[in-house]
Amino acid sequence: MSDEIYNKLRDHIDSMPAGYPRTESGAEIKILKRFFTEEEAALALHVTAKPERAEAIVARSGMDEPAAVKKIEEMAAKGNLFRILTPAGPRYMLPNFVMGLYEWHVKSIDKEIAVFADEVYDALSDQHWKDRETKQFRIVPVNKSVDGRSHVNSYDMILDLIKGKAPYAVAPCICRTEQMHKGNDVERPVETCFTFGLVAQYYIQNGIGRELTGEQLVQKLAECEEASLVPLSTNAKNPVNMCMCDRDSCQLFRYLRKFDKPAAQIHSSFYAEINAASCIGCGKCTSKCQIDAITPTGEKTAKGKNIYTVSKDRCIGCGLCVKTCPSGAIGMMLKDNLPEVPETAADMNIRIAKERAALNV
Ligand code: SF4
Ligand code: SF4
Repeated sequence: MSDEIYNKLRDHIDSMPAGYPRTESGAEIKILKRFFTEEEAALALHVTAKPERAEAIVARSGMDEPAAVKKIEEMAAKGNLFRILTPAGPRYMLPNFVMGLYEWHVKSIDKEIAVFADEVYDALSDQHWKDRETKQFRIVPVNKSVDGRSHVNSYDMILDLIKGKAPYAVAPCICRTEQMHKGNDVERPVETCFTFGLVAQYYIQNGIGRELTGEQLVQKLAECEEASLVPLSTNAKNPVNMCMCDRDSCQLFRYLRKFDKPAAQIHSSFYAEINAASCIGCGKCTSKCQIDAITPTGEKTAKGKNIYTVSKDRCIGCGLCVKTCPSGAIGMMLKDNLPEVPETAADMNIRIAKERAALNV
């Protein structure tokens, strides 16, 4: 199988806002070969980030029309293209690799792909995520942690965020699925990749995920909180997806944990603060925190227990520690000078694309 068509496809997907960079070993090409036949790769080169009719895409490809139109639909059904059903018929577009194309293959990845993916994520984080002005991901604090704060934006609260966005769908988490294929223990829930609206529709139609009622979704979110999973969405006020991340399995946490100041590498509106006078030194918050942001101050309580503090440089504002604290010593504080969160994933993609063009990436 020739690499030429796959190299072109890698470059084409890399031209999408979130990128798909070259790796040293060619792991990114090996993944594409597993996901796309040569014919599909050739056709995908003519699909853009703009939703279009299959006929318009095929016209550019020069391929035989009825067969290529059918192939485009097959590619959408297997997770290689995004399909939007409109009253005027289906429209197709090329997605980002993460989040998008890769997650849509969650049910077909295996150990080999899981190993290749580590290298792809390393390249993505070094070349696309690190120090980028507009972040691709945003922490959404768990609802209970920000209750009662008048200045909290509704797009920072999970339950407000998902209200009215049915259909809802849930699929297996790609990162915990990778870990299982690698033979590693996965103790936290796996079915935790949530989508809403048009994207949920796509997941349900193609069997990537299953539909949830609003009640089932709320129940699932509570289970995620119990399992210390950090809610993370596309960096948009109206996201269409939500991951539930943890320190042991998730690629994004593997990336964040490389930094002394992980808070600077992801969009988060909050940080946690401990009121030392109320801290009884139980240490419960430290085991909840997925990014090791909570450490002893060196001071002791009257009973000789450690008093804890939160590092503002490490805290990603998930709020998981707040509910854990038996003495109500932890509060969530809104950060100053926050960059404006893009309205939609499309707006975020446009902003990232402009920044990449300015950097000539
Ligand atoms: S200290 Fe840890 S658990 Fe608490 S909000 Fe910050 S990142 Fe989340
Ligand atoms: S959970 Fe609360 S009381 Fe316990 S160590 Fe953390 S801040 Fe202190």
